[in-house]
Amino acid sequence: MQIKSSLKRKSIFALAIYLALVLATVGSVSYFVVEPPVREQLERNLDLRTQVISSQIEMPLTGALNLLDSIVAIGATGEPQAIQSTMLFSLFSSVKGVTVSGGLWPAPYSVDAQVPYKSLFLNCASDGVLERVYSWDNPESGGYDQEDWYARAAKLPAGGVFWSQVYIDPFTHVQMITASAPYFVEQQFAGVATVDVSLTSFIEFVKTQAEKSGIGVVLRDSYGEVITEYDFQIMKEIYISQNQFGDFNWSIDVVNAKQLIKEQVFGLVSKVEASIIPIMLACVMMGYFLINRFLIGPIVLIAKKVGDSKESGPIDINYQSQDEIQHLIHTFNQKTIYLEQERKLAQASTRAKTAFLATLSHEIRTPMNGVLGTAQILLKTGLNDEQRKHLKTLYDSGEHMMTLLNEILDFSKIEQGHLELEKEAFALESIIGSINSIYFTLCSEKGLQFNIINDVPDNRWYLSDKARLRQVLFNLLNNAVKFTSTGYVEVEFKEQQKSSRNYLCIVVTDTGIGIEPEAQDKIFKPFEQAESSTTRRFGGTGLGLAIVKQICELMNGQVVLASEVGIGSRFEIFLEMETCTPGVAENKEATKADYSGLKALIVEDNRINAIIIETFMSNRGFDCTQVDNGLLALEKLQNHQFDLILMDNHMPVMDGVEATTEIRAMKQKQSDILILGCTADVFKETRDKMMAAGVNYIVPKPIDERELDDALHRFAPLLYQFKHDLTVIKSN
Ligand code: ADP
Repeated sequence: MQIKSSLKRKSIFALAIYLALVLATVGSVSYFVVEPPVREQLERNLDLRTQVISSQIEMPLTGALNLLDSIVAIGATGEPQAIQSTMLFSLFSSVKGVTVSGGLWPAPYSVDAQVPYKSLFLNCASDGVLERVYSWDNPESGGYDQEDWYARAAKLPAGGVFWSQVYIDPFTHVQMITASAPYFVEQQFAGVATVDVSLTSFIEFVKTQAEKSGIGVVLRDSYGEVITEYDFQIMKEIYISQNQFGDFNWSIDVVNAKQLIKEQVFGLVSKVEASIIPIMLACVMMGYFLINRFLIGPIVLIAKKVGDSKESGPIDINYQSQDEIQHLIHTFNQKTIYLEQERKLAQASTRAKTAFLATLSHEIRTPMNGVLGTAQILLKTGLNDEQRKHLKTLYDSGEHMMTLLNEILDFSKIEQGHLELEKEAFALESIIGSINSIYFTLCSEKGLQFNIINDVPDNRWYLSDKARLRQVLFNLLNNAVKFTSTGYVEVEFKEQQKSSRNYLCIVVTDTGIGIEPEAQDKIFKPFEQAESSTTRRFGGTGLGLAIVKQICELMNGQVVLASEVGIGSRFEIFLEMETCTPGVAENKEATKADYSGLKALIVEDNRINAIIIETFMSNRGFDCTQVDNGLLALEKLQNHQFDLILMDNHMPVMDGVEATTEIRAMKQKQSDILILGCTADVFKETRDKMMAAGVNYIVPKPIDERELDDALHRFAPLLYQFKHDLTVIKSN
């Protein structure tokens, strides 16, 4: 299995999520925890600033009120105006501040019974010089007692003060405000005292303060009229710090001009977070390092070691800590050792099974060879029809039994990985030819049509395993014929190129009983048939298609099945086939030769087999000698000249492999003699051993006469190596 998402990547991902969550939590928690006190603090700061500004404004105004009190006191002395004037001049000259003018405004005719208005009003000019102003005394101007500040103050009791609205002084064009208060002489209302306060310095002060602290301010008088305003904007959720101050009831509203408190708090929390983040990051990195070092690292290492040791034994990791990981490694190793032992046991049992199968096959095939061989020989003798019919049945049943035996052995060979593909050059036509002759007859007997469609280029030769290709085709065609009672059986050959590889595609179609969709996968498994009644109706082992599938896979191909019950089946197989240059076509007719004059030594311990082989060989003109084992064969070769040895393998005293080795080691010319190995052993190892010992070719038992003829024809040069003259005669 490929590791697609590594633990390391997952842990980094998890840590990133963790970090994001922690930051979000810390952010919101600290916002909600820090926000209220910070907000409170900021509001308090703003209130404090409001207080400071208020008191800064209040102070000079209180000074002005004190001055007013002093003027009232001068008025209350009841002294003649000249004295009061001197007192006022001395009072004003010592006063520095916001008061720019002020004085006494006696009640009409109270000073002089002839003159209604005799004010004592002093004004401090811009150059600092004090002067008395008489303009208010002119009765034509309407009289100062008609003025609001006079009339309102006159109604007040002793000690009361009336503050006028803000106004622009007509002479100085400066914003002013006037405080007026009544004065009494001997408890009799005697007039009104005033002070005029210039607001210029307040306006300037408020502006400077607002600018300096980044605040918005609005200052209002007791009438709610705006005295001055600077950068005062009201926004949603803004905090307004308000204060009412002084006896004169002025009010001041202050806001934070640049930022809402909320924004300020947010900024503050962000700053806190910005300083926390690096610490958190460092903690997370540290955490990751520790997790990686103590958890992920060992697990990744175990995964790698386990991956590396897939085919070897326990894993060896230098891991000291006595924890779960150590336990895991220990348990894994114990399990591996246990499994290794079990594997060895299983291998031993498989080897035993293989050996048993080899022996079994030999033991069964040897007597079968006798049965089939004898049947073949008998069939060539003079028999009446009845005898021939029975003998044919005997032969066919024997062959069927050999087929079943071969299928079982083939399957176990493939299953154990013993099947190795041969590579020999052959013409596709040779296979098509044999199929045609066999299945045309078979189909005709059943009343079926048999078609062959060949779309493969003419004279196509392949370098592949011809026997296995035949096996696949025969299995598919046997089934097609077996399961079809009307219609046709068709086989189509074509080639396909896929990713620069050449595939031979064979399609076997029939109009038979078809296969249920549920059974379509099942039938490719060993010993499985589409329905249980199949064995009863048609026989078979249920191995044919399993073998077909495995051979196709071995040949880098596949089988595709399409079937419909009652309509028929279509098996399409793809086999990777290497093409090769056409060679000399096999000609069966040419192999039927007369070998008179040649001598054959048959080395075979089984008497029946020996007779069969001898009969086959004698029929072909050979002069035959038979011995029971390899040692006797060696002795025979010392004194006699032979052209061919037919060598069995399993024999008492000396087996075929040893005897062949000895023959090839001999000094005489005889050491080059043609040796054909005849063995019932189906396993490649035995064949390989015989070939390695020096056998020229293997003719498997039970011996098929055609195969024997093929071999003799193929090795003719070796066969005639000691008797060239005979070849000349034959070719004539
Ligand atoms: P066997 O023929 O020896 O039983 P196979 O593996 O060759 O074993 O086939 C397995 C089963 O698949 C058969 O028993 C049969 O039920 C089904 N089968 C195979 N080929 C065909 C076919 N051409 N038409 C219908 N059924 C088939």
